[in-house]
Amino acid sequence: MPGRCQHEETAICSSEETINEFEALTRDAGRVQQDTLRKILEANADAEYLARFGLDGRTDAESYKSCVPLCVHADVEPFIQRVADGDTSPLITGKPITALSLSSGTTQGKPKFLPFNDELIKNTLQVFRTSYAFRNRDYQIVKGRSLQFFYCSKQASTDGGIIATTATTNLHRSARYREGIKHIQSQGCSPDEVIVGPDFHQALYCHLLCGLIYSDEVRFVSSTFAHSLVQAFQTMEEVWKELCADIRDGVLSERVTVPSIREAVSRILKPNPHLADSIYNKCVGLSNWYGVIPALWPKTKYVYGIMTGSMEPYLKKLRHYAGHLPLISADYGASEGYVGCNIDPTVPPEQVTYAVLPNTGYFEFIPLQKPTGEETGNDTSIHYIESEPVGLTEVEVGEIYEVVLTTFAGLYRYRLGDVVNIAGFHNSTPKLQFICRRSLVLSIHVDKNTEKDLQIVVEEAAKLLEGEKLGIVDFTSCVDTSSDPGRYVIYWELSSGASDEVLRSCANALDLGFVDEGYKSSRKIVTIAPLELRILRKGTFKEILAHFLSLGGSVSQFKTPRFVNLSNIRVLQILNKNVTQSYFSTAYRL
Ligand code: AMP
Repeated sequence: MPGRCQHEETAICSSEETINEFEALTRDAGRVQQDTLRKILEANADAEYLARFGLDGRTDAESYKSCVPLCVHADVEPFIQRVADGDTSPLITGKPITALSLSSGTTQGKPKFLPFNDELIKNTLQVFRTSYAFRNRDYQIVKGRSLQFFYCSKQASTDGGIIATTATTNLHRSARYREGIKHIQSQGCSPDEVIVGPDFHQALYCHLLCGLIYSDEVRFVSSTFAHSLVQAFQTMEEVWKELCADIRDGVLSERVTVPSIREAVSRILKPNPHLADSIYNKCVGLSNWYGVIPALWPKTKYVYGIMTGSMEPYLKKLRHYAGHLPLISADYGASEGYVGCNIDPTVPPEQVTYAVLPNTGYFEFIPLQKPTGEETGNDTSIHYIESEPVGLTEVEVGEIYEVVLTTFAGLYRYRLGDVVNIAGFHNSTPKLQFICRRSLVLSIHVDKNTEKDLQIVVEEAAKLLEGEKLGIVDFTSCVDTSSDPGRYVIYWELSSGASDEVLRSCANALDLGFVDEGYKSSRKIVTIAPLELRILRKGTFKEILAHFLSLGGSVSQFKTPRFVNLSNIRVLQILNKNVTQSYFSTAYRL
């Protein structure tokens, strides 16, 4: 393999070594992909899932593609279920799978089980090490700490005794990961007991507290997804006086009751009236919390977390908290495996791309084209015209594709369901721009709208709120087909109350904002009824988050569902019981 970092097992590589390794791998991406496929197929040749397809020891891409079909989660589920039930025979991988990850499954309301193994840890460390090396080139961090808002979820054990938890928790549970990450980036502020603690509210409070205790040492602020960063500083607005009191007296607030968290945080909390006064005065001096991050953590160089896709709506608020600091989007991956890393940290999140590391899996891309004429079909997957999958180095700039993964953890030609645009190449590996998840669409019949379409429409309509100095806290949508014709329903939680007049005009703007021809023509002939805007009580999205956590999810992985499937009854119930006002569009009047 070209240019491998000599110390990959321990992840102790200099930034320069790491960048050299990346350059070598990506210069030869086509060959590295062939090698990677061979390794995956050799290691797993005996796995029952693969053996059925008659590869008979062949490991070349042509044989692989002609023998093994594309698959979706439902195709692998029976095998994963057997793993969960304790079957240790080679089912999807040569070596038995000993842990499972729960993917978020926010749309359907049902988390999915996915295989997790050491190879995924190794890939994750390689991706993190690579993007950190590139970050360090532009924003050099020599020593210091990072303020990290990371949370683990509860660990369940399946009937067969297999650990099942979120991918982030699986990573944090692993000594190999904890050791590796220590050598990649600055040490966090919070003790491990906070990260793995069972209560998210207490963990969040302690992350803030530990961050303040080490405020002079913090060099960057991060979380997995931007949502957790916004949530953290919104909480800061509510609890800052209590945090100051804790630091002044050196006594931890009684709100922290979990013994392991209390003990670990109390060990680092010492009375410090000087620091408490300084934090207090800085908070009082802020205007509406603008720039709180650089004010309280003055040596911070940037704010880091996934900011693309369903996280884009949080950017405005995050920029407010970050003041002049750059926002850098973190890498692109899924519980299934990592896809790409951000090697251009100075690019704003809206334009960020992800370079694929060709040795972390075998990647294929299904070319997608939006239909030009009227297409029918009422599946929940956006209806693109698909062509035969192409390899990593065969994709074309400017074209869109669905990502297909073959991983070291037992997924073969697995459709990830994400749509990406090819923004360019770095050497011979493509740089992907995340567009949306394929399944998240508002669709009643011929109309098809993606998560991205919805986001654009909501952002445009929300401009009408600016005159009233209001903002959207969060939003989601569903289709209401309980009456005929069905309609789109958009839910908004607002920062405070708005007038009926403004909200009525927002409902019209939303309805007119969908530019998809299928929607517009259906609205004109009323085969789709007027759009409804439902306003939610404050705190509704916190309730949805709590529900997600109750299913075993972790805050670090949470993505607000931008579209709620009718099968996701519990989330629909939460939304509908919290509706305070409702406005029907009067646009498209005949
Ligand atoms: P999960 O299944 O909970 O592991 O979530 C994985 C999904 O999160 C991916 O399939 C993407 O849809 C989304 N995701 C992960 N990383 C990014 C990113 N950098 N930008 C946009 N979406 C992302």
